[in-house]
Amino acid sequence: SQHTDSFKEKLSVALKEKQELSQASNSLKEMKSFREMLPAFKMKSEFLKAVQENQVLVVSGETGCGKTTQLPQFILEEEISCLRGADCNIICTQPRRVSAISVATRISSERGESIGETIGYQIRLESKRSADTRLLFCTTGVLLRQLVQDPDLKGVSHLLVDEIHERGMNEDFLIIILRDLLPRRPDLRLILMSATINADLFSKYFANAPTIHIPGFTYPVAEYFLEDVLEKTRYSIKSDFDNYEGNSRRRSKQQDSKKDPLTEMFEDIDVDTNYKNYSLGVRKSLEAWSGVQIDLGLVEATIEYICRNEGSGAILVFLTGWDEISKLLDKLKGNNLLGDPHKFLILPLHGSMPTANQWIFPYKLKIVLATNIAESSITIDDVVYVIDCGKAKETSYDALNKLACLLPSWISKASAHQRRGRAGRVQPGVCYRLYPKLIHEAMPPYQLAEILRTPLQELCLHIKSLRLGTVASFLEKALQPPDPLAVKNAIELLKTVGALDEHEELTPLGRHLCNIPLDPNIGKMLLMGSIFQCLNPALTIAAALAYRNPFVLPINRKEEADAAKQSFAGDSCSDHIALLKAFEGWKDAKRSGNEKQFCWDNFLSPVTLRLIDDMRMQFLNLLSDIGFVDKSRGPNAYNQYSHDLEMVCAILCAGLYPNVVQCKRRGKRTAFYTKEVGKVDIHPASVNAGVHLFPLPYIVYSEKVKTTSIYIRDSTNISDYALLLFGGNLVPSKSGEGIDMLGGYLHFSASKSVIELIRKLRGELDKLLNR
Ligand code: ADP
Ligand code: MG
Repeated sequence: SQHTDSFKEKLSVALKEKQELSQASNSLKEMKSFREMLPAFKMKSEFLKAVQENQVLVVSGETGCGKTTQLPQFILEEEISCLRGADCNIICTQPRRVSAISVATRISSERGESIGETIGYQIRLESKRSADTRLLFCTTGVLLRQLVQDPDLKGVSHLLVDEIHERGMNEDFLIIILRDLLPRRPDLRLILMSATINADLFSKYFANAPTIHIPGFTYPVAEYFLEDVLEKTRYSIKSDFDNYEGNSRRRSKQQDSKKDPLTEMFEDIDVDTNYKNYSLGVRKSLEAWSGVQIDLGLVEATIEYICRNEGSGAILVFLTGWDEISKLLDKLKGNNLLGDPHKFLILPLHGSMPTANQWIFPYKLKIVLATNIAESSITIDDVVYVIDCGKAKETSYDALNKLACLLPSWISKASAHQRRGRAGRVQPGVCYRLYPKLIHEAMPPYQLAEILRTPLQELCLHIKSLRLGTVASFLEKALQPPDPLAVKNAIELLKTVGALDEHEELTPLGRHLCNIPLDPNIGKMLLMGSIFQCLNPALTIAAALAYRNPFVLPINRKEEADAAKQSFAGDSCSDHIALLKAFEGWKDAKRSGNEKQFCWDNFLSPVTLRLIDDMRMQFLNLLSDIGFVDKSRGPNAYNQYSHDLEMVCAILCAGLYPNVVQCKRRGKRTAFYTKEVGKVDIHPASVNAGVHLFPLPYIVYSEKVKTTSIYIRDSTNISDYALLLFGGNLVPSKSGEGIDMLGGYLHFSASKSVIELIRKLRGELDKLLNR
C-alpha cells in the first residue's frame, strides 16, 4: 500500500502540473474568460466552502448560469490543486443520454483536453472514460445500475445529481437510496442541482440541507399568444385532425357534412374558432385541445414571419417529439424562403438522439427544432426567438384502470416560463406561444413527479434487485410517495408475469428480468423467443415495442398507408406480424440498395427502422450476457420456428400477457372486453380495426390508451391454446369443469386429462424460464 500511496502522490502532482499548464495556455485564455463571466463563477469560493462543510448541498440557479459545466469542474480543480487529484472521483448524473455526452464534451474542451481523459461519460451501452477519468458524467440509470454491484458507492468522493427539479422517476428513486446511504459514507459529498423551482423541497428532504442560489441574468422577453400570432401571421388554423385519435367519430360525421374540421371539432363544445371569444369553461377547452396535434403549418408560418419581419437571431421551436420534428423538418425543407440551405440551418434536437454536438457550431441562421430537452438541460446561446407549442409528451398512469399512456399534454407554468427564458440569454427576445392565453392561465404550476404518473413495475424490480426491502415500505420514503394502488398494481403484475413469488421475492425469472433494463413484459418476450427458437421475431418486436413503431401516419394518405400495413399483415390479424414483415422487407431492400424507395412505398420510417436494428443487437448482447443465448452458435441457432407465425403469436402471448382481450360476437361484428375496464375499441391505425369477425377467440395487445374512448394499440389475434400454454396461472374453475385464468376472468372448459397434460407442460416451461 506504501507503493500505491507514493504512486498516488506522484499522480496528484502530475495532475496539478497539467492543470496549471493548461490554465496558462493561450488557446484556453478565451475559454477561461468566458467561464469567469458565468454567474456561477462569482459563487465559486462560497460553493467550495459549502461543499467542504456539509455532506449535502442544494444548488439552484437559472438555466445557463453554469451549474452543470462549472460546479463539478470547481470541485475537480480544487481537488487537483490541493493534491487530492488521484483520490477524487466525481460523478455527475444527467437524466438524458444526450446531455451527458454534450456536457462532458463541453467541459473537456473548456479544459483543452479530449473527451475520455480527465472528463468522461458513460451512458447505457456507450462510454468514453479511462483510468485517468476523475469527473464522469453518466445517466441516472447508469448510476442506479452501478449501485447493484457497489451499494455504498465506494470510491466515489463527490456525487452531483443534476436537474432534480424535473422530478424524473430515476432521480426521485436515487435520492431515496442516497438519503439512506449517507450515514454509511460520511466522507461522501452530495450536491443536488436544480433550476430555480422548488429547491426548498429538496433541502427539507435532506434534513434542511443548506441551499445556495446562483442569481442569474436574463434579458426581458416579450410574449405573444395564439390570438396575436394568428393576427401577425394571417394564418388560419387547419389542425391535423386526422391524427387526432378521439376524432374518428367526428371524422365520420364530417364526411357527411363536409364542414370545416375545426368548426366541426369545436361545435359541440362551443368555442369560437377565432379563439377570441371563449364561451366555454377553461378546463374543458384544455381537455379538448389536448387531443389536437400541433398545427405544423402555423409553426411554419410563425418561423417565416420571424425571418421576414424580425431581426436576425436563432429560433428555437419546442415540439413534443420526433414525429413532429421530422414532419416540420420536411415542411421547412420545402419552404421557398426557409428551405434555402445557404441561408438557414435547420437542426433537430431531441433526447434519444445519439449525439448532439452538431448543433453547437455557429452557422448561418439557426432554426432549432427541439423537444423539452432544450428547456433546461441543453443551452443554445444565440436564441432570440422561442416558438412554444405548449405541450410535451408525458406519460400518465391511471392506477384504477391500470392504464398507461404517453401522450402530448399541456406543460406546466414552470416549464412555459423556462421555455420563454431561453429567448433572453444574449439580448432581449420574443416568445411566440401557439396557444391561447386562457390555456396558459389554466396550466398547472408544476409538472407532476414522474413517480406519481407512471406504472411502477420496472422500478419495483429495481428495488428488489438492490435488496431495499419491501417495495411499499421503501417507496413510502419517497419525496412524494406514489399511490399505494399503483404500487400494488405493479407488484401484482410482476407476480402475474412470474417475476416475483407470493412473498414478493424475486424468482429466478425475476432475477433475469432485473438484468434486462426493459419493461418486464418485453424482457420476458425476449427470453421466451430465445427458448422457443423464435429469436429473430422476438428481437424485432421487442425492439419496436421498447422504442417505437416504424409505421408513419401520413396526414393525407391514410388509406394507402393502411393498405401497405395490411399487406404486410396478410391474414394474420396482427399488427406485430405486420411490423415483423415490414422489418424483414426493409432488411432485404437495404441489402439490395433499395431502402429509400421501399420505405417511401410502404410508409415506413428508415430512421426508426435503423434504430430498431441497432436495438436488436443490443438486446442480443443482453441475452448473451445473461446466458440465454450463445452467440458463438451463429445466427441460425435460435430461429428454427422464426417463420412459423403460430409459434410467433404464442411468444407474443407469453410476452404481452396479461394484456388480453376477449372477442365476443355481437351479430355480424365483434366486441372487445378486458378485465380491468370492460369494453375497449381497436385503435384506428391497427390492421385489426376493420375486421368484423376474428378467426380466433382472443387478442393480446401492447398498450391501452385512453383518449375519448379506450383503445388498444398494436394487437394480435391468438388462440386459446396459446393462452393455455403461455398465459398466466391456471386455477381449477369453481364449478369443477375446466380451468380459469386471470382470477376467473377467462374460463376454459377442458377434460381433467387435458388439464393435467397442460399443467405438466407448463411445469416444464417454468423450469426453462427459471433456470
Ligand atoms: P446550467 O447547468 O446552469 O444550465 P451550463 O453549465 O449548462 O448551465 O452552461 C453554462 C454556460 O455554458 C451556458 O450558458 C452556455 O453559454 C455555455 N455552454 C454550455 N454548454 C455549451 C456547449 N456545449 N457549447 C457552447 N457553450 C456551452
Ligand atoms: Mg444544467
